[in-house]
Amino acid sequence: MAADESNASVASALCTTSRFYLAIALDVPLPGLFDYWHIEPVPCGVRVLVTFGRRVMVGMVCEALDTPRLEAARVRAIDRVLDDLPPMPGDWMRLAGFAARYYHRSMGEVLMPALPASLRKPAAYLGSRAAGGPVCRADRRPGRPAQGQVSSVEVSVPTLNAQQQAALQALLSMKTGVALLHGVTGSGKTEVYLRLAQQILSQGRQVLLLVPEINLTPQLENSVRARLPGELAPLSLAVMHSNLAEGERLRAWLRVARGHADVLLGTRLALFTPMPRLGLIIVDEEHDTSYKQQDGLRYSARDLAIWRGHDLGVPVVLGSATPSLETWHRVNQGAYQYLSLSQRALAQALPEVHLVDTRRARLEQGMSPQLIEALAASLARGEQSLVFINRRGFSPVLRCNSCGWVSQCPRCTAYAVVHRHRAGRHTLQCHHCGHCTAVPRACPDCGDQDLQPLGQGTQRVEAYLTEQFPQARILRIDADSTRRKGSAAALFSQVHDGQADVLVGTQMVSKGHDYARLGLVGVLNADAMLFAQDYRAPERLFAQLMQVAGRAGRRGAGAQVLVQTDYPDQAVYQSLRHHDYTSFARSALDEREELGLPPFAYQALLTAQARHLRDAQGFLSEARECAMRLEAAKGVQLYDPVPVRVVRVANIERAQLLIESPSRRALHRLLDVWLPEVYDLARGRPLRYGLEVDPQEI
Ligand SMILES: [Zn+2]
Ligand SMILES: [Zn+2]
Repeated sequence: MAADESNASVASALCTTSRFYLAIALDVPLPGLFDYWHIEPVPCGVRVLVTFGRRVMVGMVCEALDTPRLEAARVRAIDRVLDDLPPMPGDWMRLAGFAARYYHRSMGEVLMPALPASLRKPAAYLGSRAAGGPVCRADRRPGRPAQGQVSSVEVSVPTLNAQQQAALQALLSMKTGVALLHGVTGSGKTEVYLRLAQQILSQGRQVLLLVPEINLTPQLENSVRARLPGELAPLSLAVMHSNLAEGERLRAWLRVARGHADVLLGTRLALFTPMPRLGLIIVDEEHDTSYKQQDGLRYSARDLAIWRGHDLGVPVVLGSATPSLETWHRVNQGAYQYLSLSQRALAQALPEVHLVDTRRARLEQGMSPQLIEALAASLARGEQSLVFINRRGFSPVLRCNSCGWVSQCPRCTAYAVVHRHRAGRHTLQCHHCGHCTAVPRACPDCGDQDLQPLGQGTQRVEAYLTEQFPQARILRIDADSTRRKGSAAALFSQVHDGQADVLVGTQMVSKGHDYARLGLVGVLNADAMLFAQDYRAPERLFAQLMQVAGRAGRRGAGAQVLVQTDYPDQAVYQSLRHHDYTSFARSALDEREELGLPPFAYQALLTAQARHLRDAQGFLSEARECAMRLEAAKGVQLYDPVPVRVVRVANIERAQLLIESPSRRALHRLLDVWLPEVYDLARGRPLRYGLEVDPQEI
């Protein structure tokens, strides 16, 4: 016995001498790193194949360990070192490390999803099909370098006005730090970005240009491509967004990461691309909520871009016509440089904004006589008009006139929306879970056939306008009319080619598109946003209306915007009428400061989802009590858990617990010590939970 034991320990001692222990990040919902060993050292940032439980996974080496943190006998060997890429660069590892700490997630949950999917799928490295792996295959197919229709087109470079010139000079002399380029719509921010980028490229450095939405990339892609130095143009621009096929995304990623592409244009996921020569980061429309990832790692690409710029000592430019109040606050504090473009680049006046008081108007299908008259006049002049209503479908609810029954989603606490279809088959659809049924012929409760759609969505507005203006070409642009791939681009090109007279659309139409002949914008149902429960609602409404209004009159004079509202005296509308962001921001920030809301406080949100609301709320109550016992809870407020606004979605009930502190440090100190306890508390319960730092919606 004794001899056997000593033999075993000798054997394991011999073994350990040739073992190098490694802490590996894996994308699993468990805290921390996982110990493995290999027969030779493996540098940080290298991907490895490991067996975790019974699964084979791709992980990444994050640390070399002198001794394993587990009993040595229980530590497994890694299966294989993936050497198809050099180790991920140190600054990329730092960025991921910061994101993991700040958002309180494990390294694996940050690092692995930040890579193109084929670099983190074990299947790509197993079996005979995978000979060489995805990188090797991508290299064999370098891909179409250019879709550039632009190359042969003559590029006319606009001259800068005095304000653009001054802003460019200031940005050129900025070596590091953050600048806000605050420019009204049509003021030519893009031109300033392009000039600045050219300068950085001429120094041999790379530029990261972030945009909020995929739909905005094609226009900008052409502008950027047109400015790249001739022979380099096809290869030196890479585009990245979630609609790219995996092979394309990997090839773009490799070109940027290897320093072969000079400009990376992309949506929030592009932020996590390694860029060995990064010299400038631009975040266009920095206020846009699309920069915040809404599932998985709920990061803000804008905030991480600022951190990345700071870490590398390169300048970050934030651009917006309606900066977020967080950014405006930093400007007020003197932390960011402020540059203003208050004039439209083409010397056009901003459109006139009129508030139509709907308390005194007789509305037809939600539209005032003023708006109908203005539409008729605009049609007569041969100009385009836009009717903006942020609600898709025919009408938001169906109601029985005899008993008061209303259409409700059976799986959610939400109304089922009436949708009409060409074939005449109408449906009730839930916009939260997608549940869809045919519109009943009679009331399910009382059998009465008198069912009325209440209120308007885009379809109903479209139908009404078609009836009013039979000669006009009316086009609807919303998530329904653009569902098929490529259909959005086709619809927008119809608009740009002047093949539409009246456009009816949701927020999809408001962003970035430059409509040449748009002389009139009508806004319906804006009040619904004003009174949403979220404290950010007025800020969002203001940004959205400024953006929609900004679509008008970019090439012509005398454009007007009609906003229908029951509350024309509200500060949001008054500031909008004068195109006065500054007064809006001042009053909104005063209010936030008084109420102790961000940016004067820092928040995190713990949410729980369960079949039964009592499970979700009970868990959050216990989690709260547990936090209150902690020393670190000093200076941090934990509110009572509450059900979220649409409490039940797809039969899952949801509740949330808000955590808030005037000190960012205090908030994170509490989260550091509290979250491991929350993790233990949740174990074995029939629920899921998640933490969001700096939540955008409460
Ligand atoms: Zn009824
Ligand atoms: Zn539903």
